[in-house]
Amino acid sequence: MRISVDIGGTKISFGLLDENTQLLFFDKTETEKEKGYEFVRDKVVNSILKILSANSVTIKDLTRIGIACAGQIDIKTGTVKFSPNLKWRDAPLGKDIESIFSVETFVENDVNAATYGEWKFAFGAESENVIGVFLGTGVGGGIILNKRIYRGFNFVGGEIGHMILNPEGYLCNCGSRGCFEAVCGGDYIIRRVRHLIAEGYRGKLWELAKASEEIHMSHIEKAYYLGDEGVKRLWEEVIEYLGCGLTSLVNVFNPDLLIVGGGVIKGTERLFAEAKKIVEQRAMPESRNGVRIEVARLGDWAALLGIASLDG
Ligand SMILES: [Zn+2]
Repeated sequence: MRISVDIGGTKISFGLLDENTQLLFFDKTETEKEKGYEFVRDKVVNSILKILSANSVTIKDLTRIGIACAGQIDIKTGTVKFSPNLKWRDAPLGKDIESIFSVETFVENDVNAATYGEWKFAFGAESENVIGVFLGTGVGGGIILNKRIYRGFNFVGGEIGHMILNPEGYLCNCGSRGCFEAVCGGDYIIRRVRHLIAEGYRGKLWELAKASEEIHMSHIEKAYYLGDEGVKRLWEEVIEYLGCGLTSLVNVFNPDLLIVGGGVIKGTERLFAEAKKIVEQRAMPESRNGVRIEVARLGDWAALLGIASLDG
């Protein structure tokens, strides 16, 4: 039996899987990241213990614990070197969990795990070179080259979300400006819309959002297609930058499969198709020829399945 954990900024997902990577049990809880690393680590430990007892599984039955975590991870030591989202620096997550359970523990970046999970379990693991781009609160990226995750010199490569698409663009959480994430990350989009509303802007968006008392990505997209003046430029930018970001990835990597997912894609109807159209218009013909561009299929399960089956 294996345990998979996916630690994100808002929630932690858990899976109990058998040796064939079949998901037997799924659960999730709030991260409560504001309470700090030790609190979140203990929450993970207690949740694992609860899942084991609910499924009549003992620690001795476990062959592996896989943890997908937002941030830059040293996979050799299981240390979360830097997670701007969780606000952790040098958190010894892998060592801590391994010493508590005495079970081999592997920690990997959550988007690397999700890209690997999609590639292997949704797309049949046939493609050799795969790029995953996930638009959630930020923008995460995963790169698979020759069927292996590409991590770079210090294991922290693949930061597609921090490709700078406009040197003078919006401020990014990483400290730079104009990153892919600063334009297309869900949190950043919502922040710009909230700013508009705080300045007194109303219009179609306001009518759509006020009914549910919260702004969703679907409201912004709907307002755009209803001709809302306030969100016009804002949503055009999201489409353009997503399309251009994907175009650059196709030109650089010429992957056989490009997977696009995350809450911003899931929550909208036409964004993926619009961005894909831009890739078709702007990528170099030989670079895009035959490249499959697909929407992610596994949602929350991608990282759990990926982390259960990947190693070094
Ligand atoms: Zn950035």
